Amino acid sequence: MTRKFDPELLYVECSRCGQPVLWQYGTTTKLLNLAGIDPASLDERCVIMSEGCPGCTPDKSSFTTQVIRLNKEKEGRRPMPATAN
Ligand SMILES: [Zn+2]
Repeated sequence: MTRKFDPELLYVECSRCGQPVLWQYGTTTKLLNLAGIDPASLDERCVIMSEGCPGCTPDKSSFTTQVIRLNKEKEGRRPMPATAN
């Protein structure tokens, strides 16, 4: 069963000033497409780090972004338990 996750719900944070970045709805999806990242491979444990935001670097119009997965505390793969509900 496939769970639908809306990539627009991902938290975006500026890696320079640490502020949450709010951008237009649809921007995240567009960025993921540009980066060749399949939105279906993401979930709510992912955050997007942006190298700069309109707040701290207003002279830039585009920012390098990368997706960070928060649950990577252990090396090696652990099987993900299926969500039981
Ligand atoms: Zn910033």
